[in-house]
Amino acid sequence: MNRIFLKSAAVAFSSVLASIAIAFIVAKALGGSVDGNAWVMLTVCPLAIAWPASAYTFWQGAKLKRAHAELERAHAELAAAHSNLEEKSRRDPMTGMLNRETFFASLDRSRRRSDRGALLIIDADHFKKINDSFGHLTGDKALLEIAEAIARAVRSGDVLGRIGGEEFGAYLIGASGEEAIHVAERVRREVELIRFQPLDERVVPLTVSIGGTSCMTDANVSDLMRAADKRLYEAKNGGRNLAIFDEGVSAAA
Ligand code: GH3
Ligand code: MG
Ligand code: MG
Repeated sequence: MNRIFLKSAAVAFSSVLASIAIAFIVAKALGGSVDGNAWVMLTVCPLAIAWPASAYTFWQGAKLKRAHAELERAHAELAAAHSNLEEKSRRDPMTGMLNRETFFASLDRSRRRSDRGALLIIDADHFKKINDSFGHLTGDKALLEIAEAIARAVRSGDVLGRIGGEEFGAYLIGASGEEAIHVAERVRREVELIRFQPLDERVVPLTVSIGGTSCMTDANVSDLMRAADKRLYEAKNGGRNLAIFDEGVSAAA
């Protein structure tokens, strides 16, 4: 407010000076002079008009600047909320992993670049029994623990997704067959080590079965899923709590 007062005062006094200068030039050109009354008018009129007018203009300008800053802030907030929402729509709300759609889209993008890597499908064993024995909410907790164990076992940069109710996908970017077998075994072990105690001191064992395959250059997402699923099926039939890895699958497999 003080700034507006001072700035408009500066404009008003400049107007007084300009009025006097113009009056002198005009009077001189017409052969007259500036007398006492004219002095009063030349001082009072510009002060009375320019001071409030410029104060109002400066005040409006400041208001506009504030509104602009507010709009910019709201815009930044909206952009942040939008990207937050977008990120949320890509993720499974329970585990924070990518949802099925985003996981497969990411895998597909990688396939189109023919990246090296491996796919693991990880399925919780006898999970229905956990729900039946302890209820769905406890089942959710167990599922979350399994998801956390999987996340601990993979390497940073690997892509994780919840691709079904109690089924997860891990895309191990750049992993060789040997590395993928190691990661799969680490996942299996990490889940086995969970000490899940839903009711009392009693530990309820949690295990997963894993089927995996290397990503051969010409294999698409369906080929990989089919191959990994086949190994998962073998792991289930082999007694569960097993990781079975296929050394590669091609489109013709
Ligand atoms: P298997 O070892 O053959 O995989 O046996 P399973 O019981 O895990 O497999 P099945 O397909 O028979 O049952 C899957 C169970 O997982 C049943 C379903 O209610 C449960 N499930 C799926 N999603 C969720 C979830 O989000 N929360 C909970 N609590 N349970 C879930
Ligand atoms: Mg299962
Ligand atoms: Mg399943």
